Amino acid sequence: MEQNKRDYYEVLGVGRDATAEQIKKAYRKKAVQYHPDKNPGNKEAEEKFKEAAEAYDVLSDEKKRQLYDQYGHSMGPQGFSGGFGGGQEFDMSDFFNRHGFDLGDIFNMFSGGFGGATGGRRQGPRKKRGGDVRIRVKLTLEELAKGVTKTLRVPTFMECPHCKGTGAKDGVAFATCPRCHGQGRIVIPQQTPFGVMQSEAVCPECDGSGKVITEQCTYCHGQGVERREQEVTFSIPAGAAEGQTFALRGKGNYPKGGGVPGDLLVVIEEIKHPELIRDGADIIYNLMLDFPTAALGGSVEVPTISGRARINIPAGTQPGKVLRLRGKGLPDRENGGIGDELINIMVYVPEKLTDQQRSTIEAMRQQPEMKPSEADSKRIFSKLKHIFD
Ligand SMILES: [Zn+2]
Ligand SMILES: [Zn+2]
Repeated sequence: MEQNKRDYYEVLGVGRDATAEQIKKAYRKKAVQYHPDKNPGNKEAEEKFKEAAEAYDVLSDEKKRQLYDQYGHSMGPQGFSGGFGGGQEFDMSDFFNRHGFDLGDIFNMFSGGFGGATGGRRQGPRKKRGGDVRIRVKLTLEELAKGVTKTLRVPTFMECPHCKGTGAKDGVAFATCPRCHGQGRIVIPQQTPFGVMQSEAVCPECDGSGKVITEQCTYCHGQGVERREQEVTFSIPAGAAEGQTFALRGKGNYPKGGGVPGDLLVVIEEIKHPELIRDGADIIYNLMLDFPTAALGGSVEVPTISGRARINIPAGTQPGKVLRLRGKGLPDRENGGIGDELINIMVYVPEKLTDQQRSTIEAMRQQPEMKPSEADSKRIFSKLKHIFD
């Protein structure tokens, strides 16, 4: 079970650079979704519920998270079983107290235990994990709206093909580590308040691999890696946002001396659209109307992420009014559905006038209908109220 553990970030569905707040939010969502009360008798949901709680226990603790980022599930000599493993019953109230949760009635009826959910530490030689590689990918608003598949060449440390990443000549020039006898770990006696305890540490001689190289690979000089470009193809789902990170498992750097590669972290960068402004799943467009069209009504063309669209302007359209084009936004990855395009109406007041125009407008000024009554103002303001809230 330990071997097949899913990545904690993946479990919560957050990026590796997620903030504490994002992690908390993601966990709440999973906890609600997989809560046993909502999924009675569903073993899989129960497992997922426990999995999410465990992931949150680690990722919400800065120290544990740091260790986890560095070592993954092997987590160095101590393991991450604190509170979960060793056959202890999981104390729900303690868990939520520690994390400052008040999930209220979601958990009131939960009666299952977490005992034995994870437990156990890895035995035998440690597998090293290579570093993550971070790349930024610039995408247009249109690409973000529809989703896009990209193929890029990314320079990473990759496995040396001559020694299969081991660093040893032809991949075979090894001997068993004399210090740990191939275990990758050594036992150190440690003085504690409870007496002398045996504690395990990574063998410094072989760095946990259990093997020592007797003759180096001549191509990579014993490093086991070489830097080269790898072609990676990945899909960014529709609705992705600036700063969002997608992890491509195993596409990062291969570790020196062999092991498993890190991840390739793809960070989204949004190319600014010349006319449209993104606001979450919605799109905002500021439309400057000429005064006659605002007064008389008409039809105007506006940009959308799927091309130009023609919209009707009703007669008497006030500046500050917001017209909504339903479904012309982006897919909402948080709440589902699709956002709207909001057209923010402004009315252009001419800055230069000919003598004739001036006299026409001067004549309009004399007409009482041109001035808003107190009731008109109130009515219009009340319709625009949401803008000032
Ligand atoms: Zn060793
Ligand atoms: Zn090599």
